[in-house]
Amino acid sequence: MPGLEDLYREIILDHYRSPRNRGELETPPATRVEGFNPLCGDEIVVFLDVDDTGTVTDIRIGGTGCSISQSSASMMSAAVKGKTIAEVEDLTQAFKAMMSIHESSLGGEAAAGEAGADGDAVEAPAGVKLGDLEALQGVVKFPVRIKCATLSWNTLAQALDEAEAGASADG
Ligand code: ZN
Repeated sequence: MPGLEDLYREIILDHYRSPRNRGELETPPATRVEGFNPLCGDEIVVFLDVDDTGTVTDIRIGGTGCSISQSSASMMSAAVKGKTIAEVEDLTQAFKAMMSIHESSLGGEAAAGEAGADGDAVEAPAGVKLGDLEALQGVVKFPVRIKCATLSWNTLAQALDEAEAGASADG
């Protein structure tokens, strides 16, 4: 009988082999941000469309890298599509809490203005469902792979910042 770890491995491999929301969006209006994890050679490109109400209307993922980075990006894209920016921030926080991330250990890659920058562990917001993303919780056992799993989320945070900055610049 397959255990939970086998199930999680299946979910990760499924997202790696059949990545969701793979491709590009026209820029502008979409925001394009690249993320790079030099420890592993992972690259993630996020194309993000945010409408006037602050909802992620579309997202596409590009880039290449290990199975953890690419499957995490696929799961992230599926999880945030159609969500408001506030909901995306809750999801990001819940994911980082699962990854046992202390903001101070993120170094310069943490998005500016994130809560908890005093070095406390990130606390999971109540009521946030991670779904397939829970499959990545085994990564915590391999600290060097945590950056693989969080790369797409840090890239997303940067894309959200730029999308919001662009929106306010337009008036
Ligand atoms: Zn990697």
